[in-house]
Amino acid sequence: MKIFRLCLLLTLSFPLFSFSQSYSNIDFAAQISEKSIKKNVKSLCSDIMQGRETGTEGQKNAAVYIYSQFKQAGLQAVDKSQDSLSYFQSVKLSKLGLPSATIKVNKKTFYNYKDFVAGSIQDSIFKDLDIVYIGNSPIQNYSEIDFTNKAVLFLTSNFHKAFSQAYDIWKHSKPSLILFCDPINTSLFDRYIHTSKSVRYKRFRLKKPIDTVDSRIFGKESDFYNYLRTHEIIPISVRLTKAITGLKLKQLKNSLANQNQTTPIIAHLQLQLKNNDEIIKTENVISLIEGTEKPEEFIIISAHFDHLGVDKKLICYGANDNASGTAALIEIAKAFKYAELKGQRPKRSVIFTAFTAEEKGLLGSEFFVRNSPVPLKSIKANLNMDMLGRIDEYHSSANYIYLLGTSHLNPQLKPISDSLNGLYSHLILDYKYDQPHNPFYGSSDQASFVKNKIPSIMYFNGLHDDYHTPEDTPNKLDYKNIERVAQLVFLTAWELSNQD
Ligand SMILES: [Zn+2]
Repeated sequence: MKIFRLCLLLTLSFPLFSFSQSYSNIDFAAQISEKSIKKNVKSLCSDIMQGRETGTEGQKNAAVYIYSQFKQAGLQAVDKSQDSLSYFQSVKLSKLGLPSATIKVNKKTFYNYKDFVAGSIQDSIFKDLDIVYIGNSPIQNYSEIDFTNKAVLFLTSNFHKAFSQAYDIWKHSKPSLILFCDPINTSLFDRYIHTSKSVRYKRFRLKKPIDTVDSRIFGKESDFYNYLRTHEIIPISVRLTKAITGLKLKQLKNSLANQNQTTPIIAHLQLQLKNNDEIIKTENVISLIEGTEKPEEFIIISAHFDHLGVDKKLICYGANDNASGTAALIEIAKAFKYAELKGQRPKRSVIFTAFTAEEKGLLGSEFFVRNSPVPLKSIKANLNMDMLGRIDEYHSSANYIYLLGTSHLNPQLKPISDSLNGLYSHLILDYKYDQPHNPFYGSSDQASFVKNKIPSIMYFNGLHDDYHTPEDTPNKLDYKNIERVAQLVFLTAWELSNQD
């Protein structure tokens, strides 16, 4: 066996082994066992974890479990204080409610999601705002009028195009509010109410959303998108339009056909809008093995530990999604610690991160990269595990793993994975989904690293019928598969953290 290893060593351009006394990376990988993985999975899927939904008691119990595993193994916190709390990166999220808002015109009150849709970025109050009604005339007809600190109401015969018409108005002279009404296709307005409600309600987002829109992506329109973050473009009902303009439906329809300049009607409105968002406090759990030669460079191994919680009184255990990856993460971290105890620390530092709020839109990892405990530039790679140990429809046994991202930002990742797998894990490495635009590549926490140009590999066993149901239970996992994937991830991280 040893001779075989040495032969391989000679054929590879990167060092696979660091020998010290009689221990090698293989000995450390061999510490990862299906038995311990199974124990972790069972704990993470126990009833007190309640399906680990972000912000719930169950999720916090899971966070404490992961922390205690790190701590008992002797892994450090990233923060030098080594205080218990320093293993937790606290993440504040907003759980979106429906904003309550009213518009008052001529002492009549109109309500949000009934006569208008204000999706609201921030709470706002407008008292006695001048509102200029311009019908369906092109905005050029009103070049003399300044809309600053006013609201503009226009008519459209194309509900979907209204937002680009609003863009023209915004370019003219940035009003405080833009309202529009489509007096013909009123069913589109009703549908818009319905979809806006369902898109928004109970969604999560980071407490502090992105400050500004990136002008590199949105070009000269980025100012407009920034405007949209704090101002509203508000579709309104025919009822409200009538109240503002004093016109009847027939007159509104007629003015749709009239594109000549008309004298704008000036009315006044009051708008009061309040977000009903709830603050959710949650946490990532992070530990560290400090490197010897390049401690200021980092490899990050990750898995999300949150799941969906309870659905109609049934616990969604999330054994495969993603107690499997979290269990593997814990055992990989312990294998690194074991190596340290045997006198071998990697050259670079390795960070082990269990992410929260992945199921809410990759928010735990998004928060992590925006508030990284180490400079993003010093993160050399991320290895992320999500959904291990099940068999999808394209395979007949659990001797495989999908790898995604291996050729995207660091082409070395594929040959390294192939070599190490051939050496020890002997899985079928399936690269079927390994293209930068594959949706799976953007669907788990590696995406937050990839966005920041950090090379990442996603380890994933594919979809199955129990995905996101209470049927995703620990008894359905193939623990040997998880063990072998975890060993491959360990060896890959060992290689990346020891490369020259
Ligand atoms: Zn997942």
